[in-house]
Amino acid sequence: VDEFELIRRFFSTGYPQRTDVMLGVGDDGAISRLGRDEELVSCSDTLVAGTHFPPELPADAIAHRALATNLSDLAAMGASPRWFLLALALPRIEPEWLEQFSAGLARLAARYQVALIGGDTVRGPLSMTITALGSVPPGTAVRRSGAVDGDLIYVTGTCGDAARAWQAMAGGATLAADDPCYRRFAYPEPRVQEGLALRDLASAMIDISDGLHVDLERLLTASGVGGAARAEDVPLSAALVDQVGLAAARELALTGGDDYELCFSVAESRTTDLARLSADWSCPPVCIGRVVSEPGLSWELDGLGLANPSSAFQHF
Ligand code: ADP
Ligand code: MG
Repeated sequence: VDEFELIRRFFSTGYPQRTDVMLGVGDDGAISRLGRDEELVSCSDTLVAGTHFPPELPADAIAHRALATNLSDLAAMGASPRWFLLALALPRIEPEWLEQFSAGLARLAARYQVALIGGDTVRGPLSMTITALGSVPPGTAVRRSGAVDGDLIYVTGTCGDAARAWQAMAGGATLAADDPCYRRFAYPEPRVQEGLALRDLASAMIDISDGLHVDLERLLTASGVGGAARAEDVPLSAALVDQVGLAAARELALTGGDDYELCFSVAESRTTDLARLSADWSCPPVCIGRVVSEPGLSWELDGLGLANPSSAFQHF
């Protein structure tokens, strides 16, 4: 069983159903109805040392990543981040490490005005779970399931950079602190404002945590449609192409993961609205393909069919 089969089998059904749960397991965040004016959007992500980051990563970067991955899930729902809880397992108490960890956490929290409202601290192998909570006006959260035939598919920023850095570090390389790929891995910038801006425009949205191919495939599957995408249009950073060459850069961009960019669909009739809305973004959205009715995601490169990328990040 893979991760999704596991969740489907053991955690999707058999639990109490409530009418105030607008959306449960299966999207970037859950949607709960509290009152008339707002819905709560919640998500949770765990990072384990050695699995999701090298244990020697600076403590402020570990904290930043832990919060950023959650803010990215809220962004993918179009939610305003408001609060978070931190459950932290530490092998030992090291005041200097904690000083740096909390500084990194506080810095990112301040940028988006999210308040730390609770958590838990235990002794154990280094890992942390952050639960982030945000809100949307009722009915406005962007789900994975709204893409329709003919919509255009977009991705923000660039893909593959963080995966390149993780791969290099896993292979024993020490990257310069100012290496652009390392920066993308250590301090991913959640696309919070962009997600909010897309709330009334995107028909479906997901954040890219496991790789563009698998995450876009998840969006398309949730929407009951397919997609035709062009690998040559997937945005790559100059640094990535410089470091690994064009072919490897494309491979990393499609399969690498840890990008925390937004991938979304927009009705073709609204693409001028999108261009206007995103004119001043630091991570401009790029159209990489189109939604089709036939299920499945196919890629082409310069007009030729591409074998489906498969080396995506597997949780199990
Ligand atoms: P993401 O990559 O966006 O964080 P995941 O792939 O981690 O999403 O999870 C997919 C979906 O399954 C999400 O809706 C998540 O909340 C849910 N999920 C994951 N693990 C569990 C679990 N143990 N119990 C209940 N729901 C879970
Ligand atoms: Mg997600």
